[in-house]
Amino acid sequence: KSKNNKKTAEKGQTLLALQWKKEENFAMWYSDVIVLSEMISYYDISGCYILRPWSYKMWDLFQVWFNGEIEQLDVENTYFPLFVSQDRLEKEKDHVEGFAPEVAWVTKSGDGELAKPIAVRPTSETIMYPAFSDWIRSHRDLPLKVNQWSNVVRWEFKDPTPFLRSREFLWQEGHTAHATYEESNVMVMQALELYRRAYEEVLAVPVVPGYKTEKEKFAGGHQTTTVEAYIAGSGRAIQGATSHNLGQNFGKMFDINFQDKNGETQIAWQTSWGFTTRSIGVMVMVHGDDTGLVLPPRIAPLQAIIVPIISKKMTYEVVKPYCEAILADLKAQGIRAKYDDREMYNPGWKYNHWEQKGVPIRIEVGPRDMENNQARVVTRHNGEKEDFAVEGLGAAMKDKLDSIQQAMFEKAKKARDEHLVQVTEWKDFVPSLENNNLVLTPWCGGEHQDWEEWVKEKSREESLAARGQDGEDAKTATSVAAKTLCIPFKQPELPEGTKCFASGLPATCWVLWGRSY
Ligand code: AMP
Repeated sequence: KSKNNKKTAEKGQTLLALQWKKEENFAMWYSDVIVLSEMISYYDISGCYILRPWSYKMWDLFQVWFNGEIEQLDVENTYFPLFVSQDRLEKEKDHVEGFAPEVAWVTKSGDGELAKPIAVRPTSETIMYPAFSDWIRSHRDLPLKVNQWSNVVRWEFKDPTPFLRSREFLWQEGHTAHATYEESNVMVMQALELYRRAYEEVLAVPVVPGYKTEKEKFAGGHQTTTVEAYIAGSGRAIQGATSHNLGQNFGKMFDINFQDKNGETQIAWQTSWGFTTRSIGVMVMVHGDDTGLVLPPRIAPLQAIIVPIISKKMTYEVVKPYCEAILADLKAQGIRAKYDDREMYNPGWKYNHWEQKGVPIRIEVGPRDMENNQARVVTRHNGEKEDFAVEGLGAAMKDKLDSIQQAMFEKAKKARDEHLVQVTEWKDFVPSLENNNLVLTPWCGGEHQDWEEWVKEKSREESLAARGQDGEDAKTATSVAAKTLCIPFKQPELPEGTKCFASGLPATCWVLWGRSY
């Protein structure tokens, strides 16, 4: 099927159905879903997207949840400037090397050249830490824990994909300073645990928490932890969010010193951690189906929609009090609900519309429902229909939303687990990748960076050879090479004498590989 037989909508008109199936062309399906569900509009700068209210509300809901959680960790919200001077950006050498290719620079104002170009933040370590240096004098000033909600710009050269990889994206970035390494590590793990919960409990997406290898860790940091997600539709992994232990590297560069209890000068131990709008795209890819979006209740802007089935017998006027009473009951239970009483659309159109937008519960009210004091409840994630008494409907729906959330997570976890395999010999590695798997292998350890590169190259070569003409993955235009995702915290047993699947050297741990976004 070529792009040309794709039906396109006239200006201002919404297509009635997805043009692509998830299995048939995952990338086109994704694009269809996020446009049709009114999450995204495209923009005339590549890699920049408009977040429409339907998706921005999800980010809002995430912020509310996350703010509640970090408050309990005594992290305070703050805001720093968007721009960073060249001197500051380049102060930590590894850091700037890591980010340099993606930094966007402002060189002019109006017609005039700026005396010195200034950069748009790709992340805020170098913006915040000179201030940390001012604020932190004594051990009494520690720990310092701040969080910022902001946009950052990374001029990515890989193919942009809405949410997953955009050139401007929204995120929270937490930055903390501590008196000891141990304390900083506790913070790193607390932040990562929040990310695990954000994915698993809010977005119903299972993740694998672990350490990044040396090669994949944050530029300028000491150690990076990550949660890695899996997208069954494309067989690819994606880095969900990261929490970094920065060690004292930035502290040294930015003079973040403090007097300890004995009056001696020490360098602070730091962390930074970030979670972005990428998470929304991951959630869409994991749960969406051929009808459109399927939203886990906790992130759904609207959790229940009430649709009346209007007829000659049951006019809008007749049904209004009945539906409004249901709405009030739902709202009293804290459910985000709406009564769709728009007269210009028929019930079929409304069903379709709210299904595409992924609303978890539809409550239909027809003449027979009114007679029997009931309503028909249809759940989006599995299409099940069930009649409920109007009496107690709000409470019943609250339970239902919880069970939908759980069922969606379990379904996604099953799909992920079926594609999480262990391989101990190279010969099985590429075939496993070809079967859309995440692959856990014995590994000779982080210090052998050359072997990581070797696996990347070799897996790419072998995959391309196996595929013949097709070359790189035509569906997603992303590489077929495998890369390390993480060294999972939860390690399978590693019998004495196990060899690394690539180098043949003694294995020190299991590492998780995958093709990734
Ligand atoms: P970093 O500061 O590089 O560790 O990035 C923090 C998190 O941002 C990563 O774990 C990714 O999940 C996410 N991320 C990185 N690049 C992008 C991008 N271009 N668009 C959206 N999210 C991103």
